[in-house]
Amino acid sequence: AKARGRNGFQFYAPSMTGEGVERLRLETMLRRSIEKDEIFLNYQPQVEVDSGRLIGVEALVRWDNPELGLVAPVRFIPLAEDTGFINQLGKWVLYESCRQMIRWQDAGLYVPKIAVNLSVKQFERGSIVCMVAEILKETGLEPHRLQLEVTESVIMNTGDALVFINDLHAIGVGLAIDDFGTGYSSLAYLKQLPVQTLKIDRSFIKDISTDSNDEAIAIAIIQLGKSLNLSVIAEGVETEDQAAFLLRHGCNQAQGYLYSRPELASVILERWR
Ligand code: C2E
Ligand code: CA
Ligand code: CA
Ligand code: CA
Repeated sequence: AKARGRNGFQFYAPSMTGEGVERLRLETMLRRSIEKDEIFLNYQPQVEVDSGRLIGVEALVRWDNPELGLVAPVRFIPLAEDTGFINQLGKWVLYESCRQMIRWQDAGLYVPKIAVNLSVKQFERGSIVCMVAEILKETGLEPHRLQLEVTESVIMNTGDALVFINDLHAIGVGLAIDDFGTGYSSLAYLKQLPVQTLKIDRSFIKDISTDSNDEAIAIAIIQLGKSLNLSVIAEGVETEDQAAFLLRHGCNQAQGYLYSRPELASVILERWR
């Protein structure tokens, strides 16, 4: 880390080099993670708040390395984005997600839809639409059962995002705006996009019963969804109070530890079949 000298200046401590080496090591390990079978998915249920019915799952990638242990996505996704590995990883995640939907179905569990996170870097490559179409065809998953999650910054900062998003819509896949309210998407833009779902960010849900600003923002997002005819789902729901708040304000879709942590496919099957 950067150390502070007596005079308050930052200087490069020997550990700075260590950090670079560490990053390189992580990069190298990450690059081999797929072939070494260290990458897998967890699935977090999305439920209808009033009935508790399963309406979908979100696929969340995991990296379990023998040396490093379980590495958090917040640590390796940015690295994967910087190195370009995200394209390979993203493709793996998408394929595995679609295939898992069919496996569950064959085992007697119908999961209505699966949400898969897309990184901004995956849009920069341009081939995203072909890749999605190919994976759907190969796995046999109906397009409307796949929902891609992108953040506001993906939409606002990617030159051709609008084109890709319209193309994805044309092949029938759904689109959700993730972490909604934390970025700065223009509302006019939102109206033009073939988006079906807004996902209220966890940060607004967290203190919903104690922070009046968060409460106001959550209500505003729910109302916005209603006016634009979009479905709204809340993420990070941990308490009954939060769930009750959502219901009271007309949001009947949620995801969070209150219902389930992200789990292995086998656990989802066991619990929800
Ligand atoms: P996200 O898309 O906003 O995913 C939700 C995160 O919140 C997940 O963290 C999930 O485990 C966590 N979470 C769910 N319910 C609760 C709750 O009730 N309370 C709390 N405190 N947390 C909850 P996770 O799995 O560590 O993923 C972190 C981020 O990494 C994701 O945020 C997403 O941006 C990214 N990510 C995960 N998987 C993928 C992937 O396959 N591709 C890409 N591009 N990004 C991914
Ligand atoms: Ca997400
Ligand atoms: Ca989110
Ligand atoms: Ca989030």
